[in-house]
Amino acid sequence: MDFLLTLEKMPTWLAEDNEAQYILKADQDFIKLHHLIGRQITIEFQNQKFCAHCGNQFADLFRMGFCRNCFFTAPEAGESIIRPELSRAHEGIEDRDLEYEKSYQLQKHVVYLANSGDLKVGVTRAAQKVNRWIDQGASQAIVFAETDNRFQAGQIEVAMKSYLGDKTPWQRMLKNDIPEIDLLSEKHRLRDKLEGELAQFYSEDDHVQQINYPVQEYPLKVSSLNLDKEGKIEAVLKGVRGQYLIFEGAKVFNVRANTGYRISLSYS
Ligand SMILES: [Zn+2]
Repeated sequence: MDFLLTLEKMPTWLAEDNEAQYILKADQDFIKLHHLIGRQITIEFQNQKFCAHCGNQFADLFRMGFCRNCFFTAPEAGESIIRPELSRAHEGIEDRDLEYEKSYQLQKHVVYLANSGDLKVGVTRAAQKVNRWIDQGASQAIVFAETDNRFQAGQIEVAMKSYLGDKTPWQRMLKNDIPEIDLLSEKHRLRDKLEGELAQFYSEDDHVQQINYPVQEYPLKVSSLNLDKEGKIEAVLKGVRGQYLIFEGAKVFNVRANTGYRISLSYS
């Protein structure tokens, strides 16, 4: 089977057995990655890159799959996307496009704790929290606080960063080198750190979400594949975790980081 596609973040969902499911959106079809695991696949860069925002072709993209101009002007790449505490839509203050920022920021958000190789704190929109956890390759996650908007969640995240990190150790995640962490007791421990007005947002939802990934075999060390340098990837797919494809020979490919790259994909 042969497909042509422009790479973007893989859509995900969780099956009933808590296994993450992934698809790649090709021009004419959806490719369920589950069916490709254990098979030889070939990915070939078509030497074309398209901005994920304006759709124009560029020799190089800048960041997040955006061209330089879109990265610095599009509301989808505004300050509050990376740093929720800088959200201003709740005050009616515009960063790049107030209507967009209102619809994005003024909705329920969660502050969560996750274990994706280390305990971390993060912020996301409540409606897509499980997708976020899958994107990060988390083994478990729990809601810490529920807020009415992005700004409040950002305030809580900033406060929690004094006690724990906010980065995903992606190499550990891809080796499945995950420490045992009791998220519920960590949540209870951190409860007292939520002071003043922020305390009202503490979540009583103590469900610890388990997430499994479709991986036949984890590598002992990992090295990243780079489409600009290698042009072509030909290997057996061993699994998918986070936004990474894991190949035999300890090679990993970050799909999301290659947003906008035009590729062909085939498998036998
Ligand atoms: Zn653009």
